[in-house]
This record gives sequence, structure tokens and C-alpha cells, in this order.
Amino acid sequence: MRAEGIGTVRRILCVFPRYTSSFGTFEHAYPLTDGVQAFMPPQGLLLIAAYLPADWPVRFVDENIRPASREDFEWAEAVFVSGMHIQRQQMNDICRRAHGFDLPVAIGGPSVSACPDYYPSFDYLHVGELGDATNELLARLAQDPSRPAQQVVLTTKDRLSMTEFPIPAYELAEVKKYLLGSIQFSSGCPYQCEFCDIPGLYGRNPRLKTPEQIVAELDRLRECGMTDTIYFVDDNFIGNRKAALDLLPHLIEWQKRTGYVVRLACEATLNIAKRPEILEKMREAQFVTVFCGIETPDPDALKAMHKDHNMMVPILEGIETINSYGMEVVSGIIMGLDTDKPGTADALLNFVDESRIPLLTINLLQALPKTPLWDRLEREGRLVEDDSRDSNVEFLMPYEDVVSSWKRCMEIAYEPEKLFARYQYQCEYTYANRIKVPVAPEMKSWRNIRRALIMLRNIFWQVGVLGDYRRVFWKFALRRLKQGDIEGFIGSTMIAHHLIKFARAASGGQQNASNYSIRLREASVPAE
Ligand code: SF4
Repeated sequence: MRAEGIGTVRRILCVFPRYTSSFGTFEHAYPLTDGVQAFMPPQGLLLIAAYLPADWPVRFVDENIRPASREDFEWAEAVFVSGMHIQRQQMNDICRRAHGFDLPVAIGGPSVSACPDYYPSFDYLHVGELGDATNELLARLAQDPSRPAQQVVLTTKDRLSMTEFPIPAYELAEVKKYLLGSIQFSSGCPYQCEFCDIPGLYGRNPRLKTPEQIVAELDRLRECGMTDTIYFVDDNFIGNRKAALDLLPHLIEWQKRTGYVVRLACEATLNIAKRPEILEKMREAQFVTVFCGIETPDPDALKAMHKDHNMMVPILEGIETINSYGMEVVSGIIMGLDTDKPGTADALLNFVDESRIPLLTINLLQALPKTPLWDRLEREGRLVEDDSRDSNVEFLMPYEDVVSSWKRCMEIAYEPEKLFARYQYQCEYTYANRIKVPVAPEMKSWRNIRRALIMLRNIFWQVGVLGDYRRVFWKFALRRLKQGDIEGFIGSTMIAHHLIKFARAASGGQQNASNYSIRLREASVPAE
């Protein structure tokens, strides 16, 4: 549904801030593609854009693709911004630029919902999810589009049911310029891991869309040109197992109807390995990747962070089970935990070798507001406010030791030889377990072939000729190409290139050790 009966028409400019360079945004892979410029279309802002009254003109600018221009600001009557903590500096910069045009600026999304005081300059703070605060914001703007004399904080008390959510305005985003498509089925997670802000922000009883909504969204994404992988951004795809099981047959049907042109990916807890009935259906629906927050292979650490559910099956066994259904596991890893010992880095590197997971996002522990971890560390006096550090946690081990362990892990885990060996395993074992799908005419089209040729040219030139890990690359390439595995070759090489380049920068001290670090090294987009 859309907001209705709001009154005067207003022109709204939705601006999504740039990401600070990060391990998980894959920017080093973009030059190998046929024109990808950004990671994923932002769900929240596109949802708000779709919710606006039908007669309100709306523009959407993702500053990962291009900066909002003078003309955009001059066109608009109000600016909406949304983002995560990592984009905080860039969001404040958008606000500053919009104020240069005397526009009212509203901010919503996860960062402001958790930390309203990060955003003192904004005119309107939209705290919480889509709901009564959103209607109030639109009503106020309809009534008066000038900047309020002081900041107005609107907090959602009555959330709009997700079954009422409109389809995000994917048509406003240039979906072909994104590495992945995005879609959301549920919000919230039943668990309470100590470091995680999801239950505090979105609740423990997952809210859900209907399967019909998801199918309609997938159709819309396809109409907008999405042909690669679509990522379920749900915090935990199996947060409500029954709902996931109810959804999957619809996804399978959709894949059959549309010719298996896209692959699917999601985030889920590792105990998904105990659910063969879900995994089998995910295989049929062509899920190819599952991001699992494994966090640490140390059982004591998992217990301490209240992530016992990761131990419902032995971790390595769980990963192998997921792989046996054709799905590659991507893992989140945290260093700097209270349970870390001098041998933690070595144990982690062993785990990387044994699990053969190619992509692990290894971050330093960061305490986020609205988490039990934050409350505990605050009580213990271990929250540090120091912008020169990569974490706001006073670790039990010396800070320098933790950071140098992190750098060592990044350096060794992403040595080209080791990384490509892990990808070789995935290609030969995991990917081989995927269902064999008919090749849709669209996949054989000249447009698609041309796309693959562009990517191959970029990979061969930039990695095979100019790259400094050519020897390892060619060993991998020849084996894949001999087996006719073009898809596995392109996908693995693109991501591996990003991981190698990012890890080198990280171990050399040029990247943040935490996704949430406020030590932001990248300048925000300058105003035009
Ligand atoms: S399982 Fe994942 S989403 Fe759920 S509370 Fe733990 S870390 Fe957060």
C-alpha cells in the first residue's frame, strides 16, 4: 500500500550514501564486470520511495553510482536519506549539501534508529520502521516544506504490517549497475547474540511478507533487468522456519516459470544444516550462497556470546552439509572477543583451511548501541571513544596484539594460492551439487554472451596479464576452462580478485578492521 490522503504534492529526492570501502562491498571486482558500479539496491529507501503518495514525484540517487547533483537538489522540495553506521559520515555530508539548498532533510534506517544522536543536523529523524512516524513525516512535509526551527524526532509506534508493504521502487534503481539484486522476506531474529542489534531494533518474532509479495517482487526485479544473483537481506532467512518452508515452493515454481535465470542467496543461522527439508528445497530454488555468522570456531566463545545455536551441529560438519546441497557458505568472523587467546589467530587460520570457505568477512569486535554487549561493556567501563582506533571495545588482550593478529589472518587467509585452492574445492565439490537447470533462451542470447565475453576479457587482461598473482590465476583458470566451467570461473575469479586486493590493503594497514569502525578513511562524495 501507499500513503494516502496526505494532501499537497511534494517532490522528494531520496539519496543513498556511498559506502566506505569495505570487504563486503566487492568494489575491486567491479572493474572486471561489464559495468557494475555498486553493491545492492538499498531496500529501505526504495521502500519509502514506493510508499510515497502516488502523485508525489520522486527521484532516487545512489551515490555509489553518481553523486546527487545541483539539479537534483534544485528540483527537490525535501531530501530523504537512509543508511547504516558505516555510512554515517556520508549521510551527514548529504545533509550538509542539502542544507546548502535550504532543503529539509529526513533520515531513516538502521543507523538513526539505533543512534539518533549521531545525526544532530538533520531536520527530521525517522526512528524505527515504516509506520505511523512515516505518515506523520509526510503529513508535516505536505503542510510545510520549509526546514523546521528545530530537529523533529518521529518514532514509529505502530508499524505497518509487512504484508502491506508496497513493492520497493526497483524501477528507480538502475539494477544492472548492481552486483547483486536485493529482496526482503522477513525482519527480525529469534536469537539474542550478545553483539547483535537486530533483535533490539526489529524484534525477536520475525515479521513476514507473503510468498505472493515475494513472487511479485521477483517479477518486478526481472522486469527491471536483474539477471544475476538476488540476495535475501533478511537477518535470518530461517528465523521462522515454517514461513521459509512455506515460501520455498513458491520460489521453486517461480524459477521454473522464469527459466532459472537468477540465482538466490540469503543469510541464515548455521543450524540450517539440521534442516535437510529446507536445504533440499533451497537447492531446488537455486540458492547458491548462504551467509552464516559463524563468528568463531571456538565453542567457549560461542557460548559466551550466546550463539550456542551455532553448535547444534559440529561447525565443519554443518558447512559440509550446506555445501552438499550446492550452496557455498560465506562466513562472518569476529576477532577481539573476550575469550580470544594468543593462539586464536592460528586456530582461525586452521579453520579457514579446514572449512574451505573462500569468503570470510573477518572483523574486529565492535559494540553497537542497543545490544547486550554494549550494556555489558558500559557497565564494565570498556567502551572507548577514540576515532583513531578500529574498535570501540577495550579488548582484554592488548589492542595492538588484536589488530596485528587480524592483519596476519587477513594476509594469510587471502594468499592467492590458498584462496584459489578453496575456490577450486567449491567449484569441484559444492557447485557440482547444484541442480542441473535447463539453459534459458535468455542465457544464450547475444546480449548475454557479449556480457560474458566482456568479463572474460577484463579478467584475462587485468588479472591474467597485469595481475601480480598471474601464475596462481592461470593454474586455476586452465583447470576450470578445461572443464568448461565458465560460470564458476568468472564468479570465483571476480570475487577472489576483490578479496586479494582488499586483504592486502588491510594487512598493510590501509583498511578498517571493523565494518563499523568510525575510522573512516574514504572521503565522502563532494558536492557538485
Ligand atoms: S542469529 Fe544473527 S541476526 Fe540473529 S541475533 Fe544472532 S547475529 Fe543477530
